[in-house]
Amino acid sequence: EWLSNKIAAGEVVERPSSVVKELVENAIDAGSTSIEVFLEEAGLTSIQVTDNGGGMDEEDALKSFSRHATSKLSKEQDLFRIRTLGFRGEALASIASVSKVNLKTSDGEHSGVEVELDGGHVVSMKPTAFRRGTDITVSQLFFNTPARLKYLKTIQTELGHSIDYMNRLALGYPEIAFKLVHNGGTLLQTNGRGNVQQVIAAIYGVQNAKKMITFSGESHDYKVHGFASLPEITRASKNYMSIFVNGRFVKHYLVQKAIVHAYHTYLPIERYPIVVMYIEGDPYLTDVNVHPAKLQIRLSKEQELLPLIEEAIRKAIRTAIH
Ligand code: ADP
Ligand code: MG
Repeated sequence: EWLSNKIAAGEVVERPSSVVKELVENAIDAGSTSIEVFLEEAGLTSIQVTDNGGGMDEEDALKSFSRHATSKLSKEQDLFRIRTLGFRGEALASIASVSKVNLKTSDGEHSGVEVELDGGHVVSMKPTAFRRGTDITVSQLFFNTPARLKYLKTIQTELGHSIDYMNRLALGYPEIAFKLVHNGGTLLQTNGRGNVQQVIAAIYGVQNAKKMITFSGESHDYKVHGFASLPEITRASKNYMSIFVNGRFVKHYLVQKAIVHAYHTYLPIERYPIVVMYIEGDPYLTDVNVHPAKLQIRLSKEQELLPLIEEAIRKAIRTAIH
């Protein structure tokens, strides 16, 4: 099992930001309203994620590090109606196999527990006083897979990936207060009051946030809404278009294309708007189980969704400009 964890680690845990992503997603799935992430050296030295979610009892804390130990799928058919972010039950096992982990957790009913793992092996487990929630610290990532370590780029590049993830999660969950601290300096802080425009201001700046307009639209199977920048605000990268399908951040080429189309002639060539878009639809229409990183998604009824998106944004821009 240890070997398969290490193999799985290759696809689930590509870099520090993948660890940040998995840990923060777990915190979200646990119902947290406040999630803090502390990185040292972009996470290569350590990654600490603290949440105030439901936590775990002693048994679940131990189980959480074994492969396919997910508490999130009860029936087989649940796979097709996924609401939580995690469901494969392999992230913690994979992460633990290539790092040193310290976990403190409590479900608020039983006393807390502290577990320490080294390369996936439990080295200690003891009761500890802990409030409801979870605190997990992953250090010396890839210490036993030097090849992986070698392929990682500079600290700044790795940090950039983690910032991107945190920004997306903050946009996807405006009702959760997020904090990202790197080497003691705060890089992102949101207040969790559910106001997307405040999150946009925290990420893209107050001035840009003022130049975002709202859009919305509804068809038989889909609902879309969100914020789109006035055409005067453009970026050289598509990465400023954040798309969430049922709360999950996705990369979807055709949706991005529909957004760009909506701006029509207003957008200079090779320039892209800042957009935050929420798409809601029956989970049956969205096949999330495509890749372990869960970024790609297949959407049914694109011929219904894409025009809906284009129309909604185009209408909002026209109204704002004229
Ligand atoms: P998955 O998220 O796919 O279920 P993981 O390996 O990421 O798998 O986590 C395994 C299990 O550990 C989860 O199903 C959950 O029960 C538990 N867990 C992990 N992180 C947390 C957390 N921050 N709070 C509460 N439970 C957690
Ligand atoms: Mg998970």
